[in-house]
Amino acid sequence: MKKTVTIIGGGPAAMLLASHLDSELFNVTIFERNKALGRKFLVAGKGGFNLTHSENLEQFITRYTPSEFLIEALTVFNNNDLRAWLKSFDIPTFIGSSKRIYPEKGIKPIEVLTTILDDLKQKGVQIKTEQNWLGWNDKKVLVFESGLMLSSDITIFSLGGSSWKKTGSSGEWATYFSEKGVNIIPFEASNCAYEINWKNDFIDKNEGKPLKNIIISCKNNSKKGEIVITRFGLEGGAIYALSPEIRNQLNQNKKAEVTIDLKPSLTVDEIISKLSSEKLTQQLVKTIKLEKPKIDLLKHYLSREEFLDIKVLANAIKNFRLEIVGSAPLDEAISTVGGIDLNEISSNFELNKLPNNYTIGEMLNYDAPTGGYLLQSCFSMGVFLANHLNKRHG
Ligand SMILES: Cc1cc2nc3c(=O)[nH]c(=O)nc-3n(C[C@H](O)[C@H](O)[C@H](O)COP(=O)(O)OP(=O)(O)OC[C@H]3O[C@@H](n4cnc5c(N)ncnc54)[C@H](O)[C@@H]3O)c2cc1C
Repeated sequence: MKKTVTIIGGGPAAMLLASHLDSELFNVTIFERNKALGRKFLVAGKGGFNLTHSENLEQFITRYTPSEFLIEALTVFNNNDLRAWLKSFDIPTFIGSSKRIYPEKGIKPIEVLTTILDDLKQKGVQIKTEQNWLGWNDKKVLVFESGLMLSSDITIFSLGGSSWKKTGSSGEWATYFSEKGVNIIPFEASNCAYEINWKNDFIDKNEGKPLKNIIISCKNNSKKGEIVITRFGLEGGAIYALSPEIRNQLNQNKKAEVTIDLKPSLTVDEIISKLSSEKLTQQLVKTIKLEKPKIDLLKHYLSREEFLDIKVLANAIKNFRLEIVGSAPLDEAISTVGGIDLNEISSNFELNKLPNNYTIGEMLNYDAPTGGYLLQSCFSMGVFLANHLNKRHG
């Protein structure tokens, strides 16, 4: 007889899991609180649907904090496997100039989602929407707000993290697991804007402007790319990638320090050799080729004497220090860390305290930068767990 598999939460982790479960072995149902599956998946598609990244597996794995628990999943279903899988449904992908991977131009996020949902339908996966899971009753039965109660041979939770609550990923589930004795790490924002107490005259002139081709560093981690100056502080891919270090420093000291190399292509000595003391601003524009917001940063944050001292100026260009005093609210973050403590799950994502109950996706306590790493990890966990269950119950 087929076993029942109940998947609660209908995001990308759930969809890839359901698609890879053996329909000969399992009757699979996804329960989702929203009217439709994959709302956050569609939100992710709004600013460019960055499904994964093209770098090799060795590099890829190092992007996760921690990374060990994901190695097997990423090995079983890596970025190339994802591309091949999508291609099998006529969704070709391409590698952008940033080495990120997107669906081929013209393919909308909703088309990707619909294609995956069609596949689930074909495989006989049942989808029950507007089913808000509320935990277990005292007989260990799954309870839903609709009044539905059910038991299942295997239950998989893929309830997401705790940001962008309007997509359904509210993190309320943390209480239900806590009540079962599962350790929950408090949620914190990741891949979010970071707060800086800008000088008024600087931010009035530079709000919304990008700092392009920079290297931003926090502690031992550095990221090349672009950041955007906002009234709140800084945002953008390069600073998001430093989230673990920034968060650690904020937690310890209520402030964090980042340094920015405003001119990665030149060394301090090269900058010094190119500058002379006359008409320095003009030289920064013409000889060093620094853009206006970078020069404004230097002018507003160095004293006049420092700005006119070529050595000090060159060092500031290469090593510009900024103090971060906070992070954006949890709900505005692209992703969250916290949730199910990784010590609570086996290497197969099974909850140690609740046998035959598994958790996958962003609800686990790990961090990944933007760049497609978040979605790839969810896809990989889904496929890995499906393979494990197919083997275990086959
Ligand atoms: C603005 C934005 C842009 C992003 N861009 C990218 C990107 O370009 N690339 C990338 O890799 N990642 C991106 N992400 C992150 C990515 O979307 C998430 O990491 C990913 O969707 C997490 O997948 P998941 O399956 O774990 O959970 P989710 O996608 O969060 O899905 C969880 C589902 O569970 C449901 N649920 C929650 N609680 C209950 C309950 N009690 N009962 C029933 N159902 C419930 C929710 O409604 C939701 O549908 C972005 C995120 C945001 C917010």
